[in-house]
Amino acid sequence: MEKHILSKSTFLRGLQCSKSLYLYKNFIQLRDPVSPEQKAIFNRGNNVGILAQQLFPGGIDATPEKRSDNLAAVEKTQQLIASGVEIIYEAAFQHEQVLAILDILVKKDNQWYAYEVKSSSKISNTYLLDASLQYWVITKSGLDLSDISLVTINNQYVRKGALNVQELFSITSVLKDALRNQPLIEEQIQLSMLVTANARMPEIAIGEHCFSPYSCDFMGTCWKNVPKNSVFEITGVPKAELFNLYHNGFKTINEIPESNTLNKNANIHVQSVKQGEARVDKAAIKEFLDKISYPLFFMDFETFMPAVPIYNNTKPYQHIPFQYSLHYKKEKDAPVEHIDFLAEQGTDPRKAFLESLLKHTEAPGTILVFDTLMERNVLNGLKKDFPEHTAEIDNRLSRMIDLMQPFQERSYYHPAMKNSHSIKNILHALIPEMAYTDLKISSGSIAMIAFEQLQTETDIFKIIQTREELTEYCKLDTLAMVKIFEILEKQVE
Ligand code: SF4
Repeated sequence: MEKHILSKSTFLRGLQCSKSLYLYKNFIQLRDPVSPEQKAIFNRGNNVGILAQQLFPGGIDATPEKRSDNLAAVEKTQQLIASGVEIIYEAAFQHEQVLAILDILVKKDNQWYAYEVKSSSKISNTYLLDASLQYWVITKSGLDLSDISLVTINNQYVRKGALNVQELFSITSVLKDALRNQPLIEEQIQLSMLVTANARMPEIAIGEHCFSPYSCDFMGTCWKNVPKNSVFEITGVPKAELFNLYHNGFKTINEIPESNTLNKNANIHVQSVKQGEARVDKAAIKEFLDKISYPLFFMDFETFMPAVPIYNNTKPYQHIPFQYSLHYKKEKDAPVEHIDFLAEQGTDPRKAFLESLLKHTEAPGTILVFDTLMERNVLNGLKKDFPEHTAEIDNRLSRMIDLMQPFQERSYYHPAMKNSHSIKNILHALIPEMAYTDLKISSGSIAMIAFEQLQTETDIFKIIQTREELTEYCKLDTLAMVKIFEILEKQVE
């Protein structure tokens, strides 16, 4: 048997863009670096896959000693099937140099059933195509399948005591989709084989396909000639609209004509870039500031969302708060104080988090939060978990004001905000020296992954280092709010 040319991932890559497949096969060194978020999502997928094996216990893993030796995996799978093994994990199959490695293969009543595990709770079209390719390879290689199913996370499962894998996972047959997709799979395999055999790179212009279904990892190569200040720097606008402008010759924001189809906020951004100055609505900013009373808190939470619930009475992907940062000003000209909380890893953080937060926000006054949605959801969730604290939580909720409001409403707008009102973009625009880029943990999603990893970390030095990095990151979030608030105050002085 010859080594495979296409695998499940290269097949899906070719389906998204044949140039991406060509570059992957011929110039893999041009790939953009993998982000820490992507690495963590991949690890999460692996862990969920191993857990799902418990749905069909007692199976044998077909992974060969040398993990990368796929031909050995295919041979081992064939041997296991021939020797009467009825549950096989990581079963490998190959047909016409297309390789598929299936998470779980089960024989029941002399019929074979295939199961592919996903760490998501939703079934996407990409998952259906993935299962359709598996079906094509497995059946063409000679094994009849009675059914093929996707195993996904049941996001309605509530953990009560020991983990119940039967309830945690949902199994959905996708046989009908797989059968319907067979002609498409066959056609795409032929096209992809031609791309890999061809000496010339397909000529594909950049487009919406660069982002869908995944952000392509060759953007560093294909997008290098996109000019600075391009239309793609306008966030919050459908990609189709931006490509329409770009492919019609309006490549930079300065080239966008007065009459265009962009929405109101995007046009505020365009005008602001063209004029090179900030837009300040003093009356609206004053109206916002008049709602604020001292003592003043600047508050930010960090949460993590384990795919597999770790604690009692939690669901998959539920936001579990583990950290907060508070900057505090007793009165307008008082110095700013800082208080924070970071839960111990390995224990349910919710009770300690809530008790500490309630104690530190006892004093009256406004609690400023940047984008209150997550904080409100977390506090409302904690009300259900700890009903004895309902009145205090309601008090904090009633005192919360969203610092994002004047930016969201464009009362204050700076061209470097790129049509976004995220705290990162605002900080970059207004106080560029306070950047997050110098931090090891530089976003909420990296923070959530870092804390999730702490749950199983045993190296004390890594634990200390990660805790320091988490503290530094969360502190910067509320310090940024203090500085942004001061800038708003200055506008109306
Ligand atoms: S960046 Fe876009 S055009 Fe380039 S390979 Fe990726 S998907 Fe294709």
